[in-house]
Amino acid sequence: MTDFSGRKAIVTGATRGIGAAISRALLERGAIVIGVYGSDAAAAEQFREECAKLPGALHLHQCDVSDFAAVETFFDGVEKEFDTIDILVNNAGIRRDAIMAMMAKEDWQRVIDVNLTGGFNMSRFAVMLMLKQRYGRIIFITSPMAHLGFTGQANYAASKAGQIGMMKSLSRETAKRKITVNCVSPGFIETELISDLPEALAGEYKKLVPMKRFGNADEVAEAVLFLAGPGASYITGTVLEVTGGI
Ligand code: NAP
Repeated sequence: MTDFSGRKAIVTGATRGIGAAISRALLERGAIVIGVYGSDAAAAEQFREECAKLPGALHLHQCDVSDFAAVETFFDGVEKEFDTIDILVNNAGIRRDAIMAMMAKEDWQRVIDVNLTGGFNMSRFAVMLMLKQRYGRIIFITSPMAHLGFTGQANYAASKAGQIGMMKSLSRETAKRKITVNCVSPGFIETELISDLPEALAGEYKKLVPMKRFGNADEVAEAVLFLAGPGASYITGTVLEVTGGI
């Protein structure tokens, strides 16, 4: 098990679903986790209590990742309190599904703002800190929808494909400074994000998965921790799929 003692990690969407599993796994291995959540203060408080006895240290902050000014203020505080960071996991994400002919402009925009621009905002400031210390690990949580583009997900698929393009460019810009930038692409993972799927449709989707089941958030966290660890030092610009074979 990789030891993350003393490593400083920002995880967005840290208090629910996949982000909570990533944060917990980092805390179990001794990391300092600076967790960002969007609006669910009750979930954040519950997560804080759950993690109280873990070896690492958890610091939670409310910040809308789509808001450039709020992210800048958040990073000012991070730099003052922690000096620098080693790991950024761009995990915060939302869905607002509708077929394109019926998609509200606001639903298009909000998904792009949170999933894609949020990743830009966070990485933009994180990379400045990482460049100074000549070390860093940036991981985007994308989705196979980036290339599959299921019906009703034009906004989500575009945001996830955009993350892959952004990751590729950033990985080239930072490679010489020992900063790696990668994506993890989870398939169907049992979280609240997909809890609205009708049972029949969930059954159909499970049939599409060669492993014939949905994954769980801990299985995604394992892949993220691999890319976040020192052993992944020569891996950059890639997408690691955690999909049960889709
Ligand atoms: P989730 O359970 O719905 O959790 C989403 C998290 O994102 C929450 O912690 C939420 O914070 C946070 N968030 C949402 N909007 C935000 C904002 N504007 N600023 C800051 N934080 C914000 O979702 P999940 O299933 O864990 O998904 C996590 C990531 O994995 C997403 O990027 C998603 O696209 C990706 N993914 C998920 C699946 C899947 O099947 N579940 C598959 C592929 C990819 P609050 O709790 O405060 O609202």
